[in-house]
Amino acid sequence: MSVYVDYAATTPFDKKILEEVVDNAENFGNPSSIHRIGKNAKADLQNYRRKIAECINAKPNEIILTSGATEANNLAIKGIAKGHANPHFITTDIEHASVRNTYQDLSEEYDVTFLSAKENGQIDAEELKNSLKDNTVLVSVMMVNNETGSMQPVFEIAEVLKAHGALFHVDAVQGFGHMDVDVENLGADLLTLSGHKIYGPKGIGLLYLKEGIKLSAQITGGSHELSRRAGTENIMWIQAFSLAMEKAKAHRSKRTIKEMQMKERFINELIEKKIPFEVNGDVNNQTSHIVNVYFDWTEAEFLLTALDMAGIFVSAGSACNAGTVQPSHVIRSMYDDEERALKSIRFSFSHLMAEEDITEIAAQLEIIYNRLNKREMI
Ligand SMILES: *Cc1c(COP(=O)(O)O)cnc(C)c1O
Repeated sequence: MSVYVDYAATTPFDKKILEEVVDNAENFGNPSSIHRIGKNAKADLQNYRRKIAECINAKPNEIILTSGATEANNLAIKGIAKGHANPHFITTDIEHASVRNTYQDLSEEYDVTFLSAKENGQIDAEELKNSLKDNTVLVSVMMVNNETGSMQPVFEIAEVLKAHGALFHVDAVQGFGHMDVDVENLGADLLTLSGHKIYGPKGIGLLYLKEGIKLSAQITGGSHELSRRAGTENIMWIQAFSLAMEKAKAHRSKRTIKEMQMKERFINELIEKKIPFEVNGDVNNQTSHIVNVYFDWTEAEFLLTALDMAGIFVSAGSACNAGTVQPSHVIRSMYDDEERALKSIRFSFSHLMAEEDITEIAAQLEIIYNRLNKREMI
């Protein structure tokens, strides 16, 4: 038996959605062609874009389709930066690498403030407020942290920024499908989503850009996506993305209840089996599908390998450090503790999992723990 418990890294592509996309493959035209074949494709594209926009309460012309959230985050940050002479930016040091490293690059040229997280996993909205300068043009704070599941105070931040005038960019990749993502309600000016975190395909995502905000294209060419992202539209994946978004939204409460059950059961099994652990951050302020656990009795690198051999597939921190186990920058930011950052593991759950999966994960963890600590099986 093996168990995948790394759904924050990626989710399996929903086969029903894939089938629907394949069924529509005859409509293969280029939406930019002016003949009927092109116009048919364009009609489809407009339909998908409208559905996508509706899912986050946006207008179709506010949706820029991209190759994923990484590109969307790059476009948001660099696209806003380019229009300003002497800008200041605020972000956090718990952002996904696609935000953090983009700002790291920008910081060689521009003034960038990186806020760290508190032990509860959140950044402090008051500290953010105090970091604002007259020339602050853009603030990037994620909705839900991908390593700890900690929800960030995005509503509070939006309020603060409304009074100041700086734009608000929210990476909502780990929020959508688990909580309501409504751009109006949230007060976001720019917002990022990804297809493969919500049972859609890899290689598709979007940037929501509020009407009227100027953004400089980072991929130039034709006038696709209202000249903000050139290149022939990936119509099949855009269709799949729209279907995955609609489904994630329609089934959100059912899915999150199941995720929460899996997560709670997992925590309870660790307690029952007397495997020492601590949850990183505040478990009461986290998304339903992620828990990050500190095991002081072993390094994450060892545990990941042992679990992998036992058929349990998890991550230490984010998947984005390409196969290497680095101390988690998120745990480090929260606790300022290198050892804890090296001994923490993320488990991320899905409505597709069953109770037996949780039992299996706990059983394998117990075997590894006992072996390491020469503890007799209870
Ligand atoms: C996965 C993830 C991304 C990157 O999305 P891609 O579509 O894989 O580029 C960005 N932000 C967060 C929070 C993520 O979890």
